[in-house]
Amino acid sequence: MTQTHCPYCSLQCGMTLQREGRAALAVQAWPEFPVNDGALCRKGWTATGLRGHRERLTTPLVRDPATGELAAATWDDALDLVAARLTSIQRDHGKDAVAVFGGGGLTNEKAYLLGKLARVALGTSLIDYNGRWCMSSAASAGNQAFGVDRGLPFPLADVEQTDVLVLVGSNLAETMPPAARHLDRLRERGGRVVVIDPRRTPTADRADLFLQPVPGTDLPLALGVLHLLDAAGAVDEAYVAARTTGFDDVRRSVAAWWPERVERVSGVGADELRALATLLAGAARVTVLTARGAEQHSQGTATVLAWINVALALGMCGKPSAGYGCLTGQGNGQGGREHGQKSDQLPGYRMIDDPAARAHVAGVWGVEPESLPGKGLSAYELLDSLGTDGGPRALLVHASNIVVSAPNAVHVAERLAALDLLVVADVVLSETAAMADVVLPVTQWAEETGTMTNLEGRVILRQQAVAPPAGVRSDLDVIAGLASRLGSTAAFPTDPEEAFAELARASAGGRADYAGITYDRIRAEHGVFWPCPSADHPGTPRLFADAFATPDGRARCVVVDHVGAAEQPDDDYPVHLTTGRVLAQYQSGAQTRRITDLPHDGPFVELHPMLAARVGVRDGEPVVVTTRRGELKAPARVVTTIRPDTVFVPFHWVGANRLTHDALDPSSRMPAFKVCAAAVRA
Ligand code: SF4
Repeated sequence: MTQTHCPYCSLQCGMTLQREGRAALAVQAWPEFPVNDGALCRKGWTATGLRGHRERLTTPLVRDPATGELAAATWDDALDLVAARLTSIQRDHGKDAVAVFGGGGLTNEKAYLLGKLARVALGTSLIDYNGRWCMSSAASAGNQAFGVDRGLPFPLADVEQTDVLVLVGSNLAETMPPAARHLDRLRERGGRVVVIDPRRTPTADRADLFLQPVPGTDLPLALGVLHLLDAAGAVDEAYVAARTTGFDDVRRSVAAWWPERVERVSGVGADELRALATLLAGAARVTVLTARGAEQHSQGTATVLAWINVALALGMCGKPSAGYGCLTGQGNGQGGREHGQKSDQLPGYRMIDDPAARAHVAGVWGVEPESLPGKGLSAYELLDSLGTDGGPRALLVHASNIVVSAPNAVHVAERLAALDLLVVADVVLSETAAMADVVLPVTQWAEETGTMTNLEGRVILRQQAVAPPAGVRSDLDVIAGLASRLGSTAAFPTDPEEAFAELARASAGGRADYAGITYDRIRAEHGVFWPCPSADHPGTPRLFADAFATPDGRARCVVVDHVGAAEQPDDDYPVHLTTGRVLAQYQSGAQTRRITDLPHDGPFVELHPMLAARVGVRDGEPVVVTTRRGELKAPARVVTTIRPDTVFVPFHWVGANRLTHDALDPSSRMPAFKVCAAAVRA
C-alpha cells in the first residue's frame, strides 16, 4: 500500500494505491491527507487506467528518413542520435539554436534538472513551459503587488471561515470537485459565495450571487466594485495607510468607473454590481480567488491586480481567513516555475538577471556564473520563433502536448514542422509526439517518486507504487543520459531524493526556499509549505500576516485600466468564443482521453438557444465555429446557462486551440485563451 497523490490537477489530492494480484493497482482513499479528506473526483478514481494501456510507449522511436515513419530503436541509439544532432545544430547555428519546452505536470526534481540541462549542458537561454499558460498572470500580479508569487498564501480550507468568497473565473466544482466542499461548508456556517463567470456552471449553482459578464470584462467589474466601496466609505483607511502604497492613485483611477458605465462594458447590471459591493462592504472577512477565466487574457495581469486592489482596499490581505489567492490549474504549475523551468527564473524563484542569484546557483552547479545564459523567450514566443530565420532549429519537449494546448495551434504545428529536430518525451504518442523525429518513452506517476507543489504552496511527495514497464525510463534518466552525451561534467542525479536535496540547496535563500524540506519531513507532516529555510523551521502555511515580501513590507496598489480584449466581435465574427475544461478531462487530454472509464463526450460547442435559433442548429446537430485562425466542427450543446453572445468550447480535444488568439499579456506573456471573436454556422 502506497500513499501518494493524484497525477492531475493542482489540488494534488492524496490517495492510496493498493497492489491487487500481480499486475492490478487500485485507487483507494487516504482520509488523513488534509487537502481532500479522502475525496477524489472521477479523474482521480480512474487514474490507474493508463497503466498497461495498449497505447503506452515502451520503446524509443526514431523517424526513418527513408520511409518517414517512426520505428523502434534502442535507448543508446536514440540518445546518441539526439545528442549528436543537438551538438551539430549548436555548432552550426549557436547555442540558442536548441530550445527546451517543459510541462506543468513534471515533478519539481524533473523541472529543476530540465532547467539545469538547458542552462549548463546545452547553454541555451531558450527554455519555458506550458505552466506559462496556466497561472502566469496571477504570478505576475502577485509579484507586483505582494513581492512574491504563491498561488494561495493560505491553506485552501481557510476559505470555509471567510464571510464572503468571490470566485472570479473559476469553475472549481468541475475542475477540482473535492474543493467544492469548502463552498458548501462556508455556506452552512452562514457565509456567502459570489461567482463571476460568463457561464452558469455547477460552481455558479452554489453561489448566493452570480454575475455573468461578457468574456474579458472581469477587470472593469473590479474597477466598478472598488468605485462603489470607496463611495460607500467601506475602504479600510487604517489598513491602507499602514500596509500599502499607491492607493490614492488607484482611488482616483476608479472614480470614472461608475456602475452604469461598468454595465455598458460588461453586461452586468448596475444593480447586481451594487449588490456585490454591499455584500463586500458589510463583511468582516472577504476572500477573492481568481482562476483562468480572469487570467487568460491579454489583460490578465491587470485584471488580477484590479481584484487584488479590492482585497487590499478592504484590508483583507494578511488577515486570518481572508485575502486574495489564485487557484492554480496544473498539477505542478507552481513548483514547475519555482525551480528553473521558466525562461526568466533560476531555482528558488530567483530571477535569472540577478547577479547574486546567478552566483548562488552557479556555485551549487559548479560552474562559472558568466557561463549561465540570460533570459529567454516566453512559451508562446519560443514556439512562434521555431524554424524561423535565426530561430531555434531543434526542440526538446518533456510532458507537453503543444499542438493541442497552444493557442493558434495551426500556426504552432507549422512551426514545429519547420524544425530540423523535434524530440518528445512522453508516456503515449500524443498529437505532438506523433510529429517528433525522436520519441522517448518515460515513466508515469505511479511508477516513480518525486515532489510536487500544490496550489497552496504545500510541497507534497508522490511515491512510487509499482515498477515501470520494461523499456521505459524516468525523465531524470533521460536528462542525465543526454547531459553526459553532450559532454557535461556537472552532476545530473537520477535518484529523485538526491535531486531534491540539490534543488533544496539551490533554492536556499531564494523566494521559494525549500532548504529545510526533506522527503522524510513531507511524509511525516503531510506536506511542508514553503518558504522553509531550515530543518527546524515549521514551514509557512500563511503569508503576509505581518508584512508583504516587498522591500518595505507594504503591498503595492497598482493603477490599471480596462483596454478590452485584443479581438472584439464584428460583422464577420459576431460572437465571443471562450474555452475551458470539463469534469472528466484534464488539460490536452493526452492521458484522460485514453482512459476508458471516463466519458468521451467531446468536443462540443456550447451555445444559447437564442444563438442556436439564429444559426439554425438544434441540440446535438453539427455546428461550425470559425475564427480568423481556424475552424472547428462539433456537435452543438444548446444550453440556457451561457450568455447568448458567447460560445464555449472545451480545450481537451484537437480543435479548440485552432481557434484561440495568440495575443499576449504584456507582463506575464499569457495568451488570450479565454476570449476572441468567432462566427457560428450550421
Ligand atoms: Fe483531486 Fe484534481 Fe485529481 Fe480530481 S484531478 S482527484 S480534484 S487532484
